[in-house]
Amino acid sequence: MPVTDPRLEIRNITRVFAGRPVVSDVSLKVMPGQVTCLLGPSGCGKSTTLRIIAGVDMQDRGEIHVDGRLVCDTVYRVPPERRSIGLMFQDFALFPHLSVRDNVAFGLRGDKAARRRRVEELLDRVGLLSALAKYPHELSGGEQQRVALARALAPRPSIMLMDEPFSGLDERLKDEIRDSTLDVLKEEGAAVLLVTHEPHEAMRMADEIALMRDGRIVQQGAPYNIYNAPVDRQAAAFFSDIN
Ligand code: ADP
Ligand code: MG
Repeated sequence: MPVTDPRLEIRNITRVFAGRPVVSDVSLKVMPGQVTCLLGPSGCGKSTTLRIIAGVDMQDRGEIHVDGRLVCDTVYRVPPERRSIGLMFQDFALFPHLSVRDNVAFGLRGDKAARRRRVEELLDRVGLLSALAKYPHELSGGEQQRVALARALAPRPSIMLMDEPFSGLDERLKDEIRDSTLDVLKEEGAAVLLVTHEPHEAMRMADEIALMRDGRIVQQGAPYNIYNAPVDRQAAAFFSDIN
């Protein structure tokens, strides 16, 4: 049987703020081509976990590996821009003074013709090739979100971190945008760690769910299994109001 290595592996991550652990002993793997969802109620420590992986916060204990390479433990630390990580946050704004083309090209290095091809490939994938020369303020919220997705994917990051990336969008458009985002992520073969507090979103998008509560992962598995066999009453209640 072929052995596949995870794109991202975190081991026993712990983060303490003012004597209070907000992330406790969190371990997780994200496999190539898969969307792993870190799901849990507001305040349970999801964003803190993502910030630590991205390198903008530092764990008190634990290790982070990207493509089998140690990028951070408590003594060794690779800076954020050299971790091969793509980021998408709710308020991860586009550069207003740059065209759509230049926004997507922003993180790209190397040959000019290759960069140009990559930008056009991605804008085609998100359905915005015709908006190349436009500026962010000329686009709708959903279109801006698609440009941000293209920008984050452009340098082919080993792992994409997405923190509630749909929460700023019109409720009526969310499912459509979730589905088209998922199509793009799958076409790109991206490995994704998606943070959300909405069970519905996790069920719709995840290959794997890690259910988080009070800083800990309380259950992990395929969406169908977690939905059908919640670990306890609290987990069952969390899924019960799914829309
Ligand atoms: P989530 O993303 O799941 O809503 P967060 O990771 O943002 O949760 O926050 C988890 C807990 O850690 C919350 O109680 C929050 O108030 C606290 N917290 C987050 N960042 C800091 C910080 N820099 N200093 C102190 N407490 C923080
Ligand atoms: Mg958060």
